[in-house]
Amino acid sequence: MNLKITNPATGNIITELLCNTKEDIQAKLNALRTGQKAWSKRPVQERLDCIVKFGELIKENSEALALILTEETGKPLQQSRNEINGAHSRIDHLSQYAEQWLSNEILVNVGATHEKIVYEPLGVIANISAWNFPYNVGYNVFLYALVAGNAVMYKPSEYAALTGKQFEKYLHLAGVPEHVFQCVIGDGSLGQVLLEEDFDGYFFTGSYATGKHIAQTVAHKLVPVQLELGGKDPLFIAEDVLDVKQAAINAAEGAFYNNGQSCCAVERIYVSESIYDAFVDAFVAEVGAYVIGDPKDESTFIGPLTRLQQIDVLSKQVKDAIAKGAALKLGGQPIEHDGNYFQPTVLVDCNHDMEVMMQESFGPIIGIQKVTSDKEAIALMKDTPYGLTAAVFSSNEQRAMSILQEMNTGTVYWNCCDRVSPNVPWSGRKNSGLGSTLSSQGIRAFVQPKAYHLRTI
Ligand code: NDP
Repeated sequence: MNLKITNPATGNIITELLCNTKEDIQAKLNALRTGQKAWSKRPVQERLDCIVKFGELIKENSEALALILTEETGKPLQQSRNEINGAHSRIDHLSQYAEQWLSNEILVNVGATHEKIVYEPLGVIANISAWNFPYNVGYNVFLYALVAGNAVMYKPSEYAALTGKQFEKYLHLAGVPEHVFQCVIGDGSLGQVLLEEDFDGYFFTGSYATGKHIAQTVAHKLVPVQLELGGKDPLFIAEDVLDVKQAAINAAEGAFYNNGQSCCAVERIYVSESIYDAFVDAFVAEVGAYVIGDPKDESTFIGPLTRLQQIDVLSKQVKDAIAKGAALKLGGQPIEHDGNYFQPTVLVDCNHDMEVMMQESFGPIIGIQKVTSDKEAIALMKDTPYGLTAAVFSSNEQRAMSILQEMNTGTVYWNCCDRVSPNVPWSGRKNSGLGSTLSSQGIRAFVQPKAYHLRTI
C-alpha cells in the first residue's frame, strides 16, 4: 500500500511512499534490538558527536528541508526555516549537559560500603510523532533518546512523512547506525501496529484521544509511556499592561502563528473590562492585516491548514459560538481557493458555553471574553480539562505570579506565550499529557536507574 503525500496548499499529490507492513516492523524491531546493544556501549561523547554532526547537516541543507516541510504541511516558508533553525538549540543544550546528566552518581563511598546510581537506556523505544512542529517535537524525543543510548523506531505523522525520512537520511549520514534509528511510514493504523509489538517505551506527541488510546493499549506491558498532548491554553490580559496595542500584537501572534496549529497556541483570551474594547480593536486590526496565501511566498503569514478535516471543526465552532451569542469580528469561513484555507477568525463576547472556549481549535480562530476581576479570570482559565500552558500579560509581577501559581499547567508565562525552551521541562498535566521532555528531566525520561550496593569485603 502507498501513502499519498498531498500538498495542502493545492490539494495536489506530491508523491507516494510505500507503507511499511507489520512484518517490516517486526524485522526492523529485531534489527534495532541488536543495534541498540552496541550503540549503548559507545561513550556518551561518541553518541553526541553523531547528533552534533546531524545538526550540522540539517543546517547545511536547511533551505531544501524547509521547502519539504512547507510542501507537505503548508507551513509558511519563513516559519519552516524558523522551526528548523530553532530546533538546533536542543542539540546545543544536549552537547553542553548530556554527559553530566547521564553520568553515574556516587552517593556513598565510606569504608567498605559503596552506593551508586547508574543510568541505563530503556532499550528500543517507539516514537509516534505529530505533524505540526515535526522538528521540535521529533528532536525532543529521538535526539534525547539516542544520546541516552536507546534505539528508536520513529513513526512520523502521515502529514510529515517526507520530513521523517529526511531525519532518517541525515542521522545515518551523521554516523547513527542504520540499526539504531529507523523511520517507518504509514498512517494511524501503522501506529496501532507499533502498539502491538514489544517496545521498551512509547513516546507520543498528538491528540488527547490518541494518547489516551495508546496509554490504555500498552498499559499491560508496564513500560514507560510518555504523552505530549493538546491544550486549550488561556491568556489573561490585565488592564495594567503598559501598551494595549503591543499586548494585542503579541497575543495575536501567540494565537495565529503556524495557523494556530501549535499545541501551546493561545486558544482563548480573557481581557479586563476597562481595556476590552481597545484590546479587541487592536487585535482585530492586527489579525486583519495578516498576509494569507501561498506558503512558499516569503510574505505569507497564514497558509493552508495541514489537514482538510479541520475546516469542519472550525466551521462548527464558529456556528456554535454565534448561535450562543458571540459576535464575529473577523473571518469565520473557509476561503474559496484550492487547498485547505480558512479565514483568520476572531469571535468576541464569548463564554464557556461555547465550544470555541472549551475544545481545542487547532486552527486560525480565537475566542475573546471580558472579565471583571482577577478572581474571575483565574476561575475561567482553570475551567478546562487540559493543563499545558497558561499566560498573563500585566505590568505587575506580583499580581501575575499570584495568578500563575493557581494554574494547574506544566508551563506558565508572564508577558510572553507560545514558547518552548530546552532549559526547562516541557510537560502537560491532566488531559495535556504525562511525563516531561527537554531539560535534565527530558533525558532522564529515556533511562532507568540501576542502584548498586557494593561491599569491598
Ligand atoms: P493524532 O493523535 O491524530 O496523531 C498523532 C500521531 O499518532 C500520528 O503519528 C498519527 O498517525 C498517530 N496515530 C493515529 N492513530 C493511532 C493509533 N491508533 N495508534 C498509534 N498511533 C496513532 O494527533 P494530530 O495529528 O491531531 O496532532 C495534533 C495534536 O497534537 C493536537 O492535539 C496538538 O495539541 C498535539 N500536540 C501536542 C504537543 C505537545 O508537546 N504537547 C506538540 C504538538 C502537537 P497519522 O498522523 O499518520 O494518522
